[in-house]
Amino acid sequence: MPGEFEIIDWIRAQVAQAGQGLVSLGIGDDCSLINQPDDNRKWLVTTDMLLDGRHFQMQSGQHSPAQVGRKAMAVNLSDIAAMAGTPVAAFVSVALPKADSQSIARQLTEALKAEAAKYQVVLAGGDTNVWDGPLVINITLIGLEPQGGAVLRSGARQGDLVFVSGPLGGSYPSGRHMRPIPRLRLAEDLKICLGPDLHAMIDLSDGLAGDLRHILNESGALGADLFTHQIPIHTDLYDYQTEVQNQAGPEAAMEHALCDGEDFELCFCVDPAALSKLPQGVFEVGRITKEPGLRLVGPDGLARNYHRGGFDHFRKELNTR
Ligand SMILES: [Mg+2]
Repeated sequence: MPGEFEIIDWIRAQVAQAGQGLVSLGIGDDCSLINQPDDNRKWLVTTDMLLDGRHFQMQSGQHSPAQVGRKAMAVNLSDIAAMAGTPVAAFVSVALPKADSQSIARQLTEALKAEAAKYQVVLAGGDTNVWDGPLVINITLIGLEPQGGAVLRSGARQGDLVFVSGPLGGSYPSGRHMRPIPRLRLAEDLKICLGPDLHAMIDLSDGLAGDLRHILNESGALGADLFTHQIPIHTDLYDYQTEVQNQAGPEAAMEHALCDGEDFELCFCVDPAALSKLPQGVFEVGRITKEPGLRLVGPDGLARNYHRGGFDHFRKELNTR
């Protein structure tokens, strides 16, 4: 069975690509880009679907409709952050389970409204259905690209420094995956401080190793060295993952930091000449190389090829969930 990324590649090959009509960037980044005929700033469009039993556990009573609403809005906001954009309007479609549909709809809407209001986003439309299945929620979020243009996945260059915006790993066992904080403010700051020296960016939904590979592939088969001793490991891993504490320790924690999904931090590539313009609180984790592939470099300077990483919805075994 092909993996999720192969299926996306296939779909991408079947449908209209960038540069058609007002669509200046189609499938293959965190958002699509739509030109405004009378303005040189483009619209950003992103969409993300969350399923009960996969992205949250409401039927089993683990998560509330309010938690689901907050997460659904936040993960879409995170994709706008990945392009350094400003979110504007959300369109929410839900398939509500028959039992308790009214109460679920009420709690969901309250949470969606609250999360949207934090970022001045308007709930501008959607669709509501009731069915025998579990809750499914899809949000399409529209935003505006920043002055100077959206930050794409495809702009990384050899020699760029690779950064992440926060510590990684353990979002599932800790429940942190239900309350992501979209890094909109940081993305805006990065764009303002770095301008064209901010070469590429993505939000970390599938793990650093997998998501950095998207940047490498979109930027023309580049590679990266990741410095293991510089990768910030989330304390969630030590608080909740006894397996990590008991087993190989740092090695196992590093695997989680590289491969766990849903951290929703930003990963971005910066021209090394612009290092002094970076805001505080970001972590330098690697360097873009001409040689393709991902390598882990230890404190001893030894590099080893790294092939794991990236949560794939069609190949669940790749991740630790
Ligand atoms: Mg994304």
